[in-house]
Order: sequence, then structure tokens, then C-alpha cells
Amino acid sequence: MTDNRMHSHAEHGNERENDMEKIIISPTGKCMRSDAAGAGFYGASRGGRIHEGMDFLCEPGQDVVSPITGRVIRLARPYAQGPYSGVLIQGDKVAVKMFYVDVTERPGDRVEQGEVIGTAQDITQRYNHPDMQPHVHLQIEHADPALFMGE
Ligand SMILES: [Zn+2]
Repeated sequence: MTDNRMHSHAEHGNERENDMEKIIISPTGKCMRSDAAGAGFYGASRGGRIHEGMDFLCEPGQDVVSPITGRVIRLARPYAQGPYSGVLIQGDKVAVKMFYVDVTERPGDRVEQGEVIGTAQDITQRYNHPDMQPHVHLQIEHADPALFMGE
């Protein structure tokens, strides 16, 4: 088990900073993708659709960590055919789905935020676009509306 979180509860003495802990962290430890094949932000154009999540840069084969603490609900498949896979994880406040990850956990397993749960696949192999950068896709499947209502 690996913990990639920048801070632990033990490092903070007050409640205020604990409140600021991130609900979701980068599954690859890297920032968002933006290349000529597409922008990685939520709402970016995908032809007639919008991009329904965020794309995080990765090195194919690198460790991928769980972005939230929760339970593995099921494995996910981004496409009907091919080697690509992913996972749906349910946390206390949000459920997230990731694609292009070879997941070692199984349905029912508990995972901690920052725990290694698989390795990054190489999505660029699917698309004939030389400018696409390898990435892991992360989207929110559903969430507690209270998260978006402020204090
Ligand atoms: Zn994506």
C-alpha cells in the first residue's frame, strides 16, 4: 500500500486544514492533459459531445492510485472491444470512474486515497493521432449535492 497524499491528518494540528483535504487526488500524480488531440478538462469539446471528466497525464505502465477512499464497486470497460479497462469506486461523498487503468483490485475491495490500485494503460495505441499524450481518464459518476452548496 502506497500513500501519495501530500499531508496526513497527523501533520496538521487544526480542524481547518483537515477540512481542506482533497476529496479527489490525481490518480497518476501528474497534472491535466492538454494536447493537439484534445483538452483534458471537463466540458472540453469531443465533437458533438463534451468531455465528461478530467484526463491526467501518465507514463504507460506507471502505478495508478485511487483518487478517493472507498470501495471498488465494479470494473469498467470504456469500449466494447479491446484491452482497455477501468474501475468504479464508491466513496462517502462521491463515486468516481476511471478508464485506461489495469486494475489489480476486485469488486468489494476497500481502497484508500493514494493507494496503488493498478497500472496505467497506453490509450494512444487506440487512436491514430500522433499528438495524443498517454493519460488516465477520471470522471464523477455521482456525488452528494451538498458538496457543491458551499458552507
Ligand atoms: Zn477523458
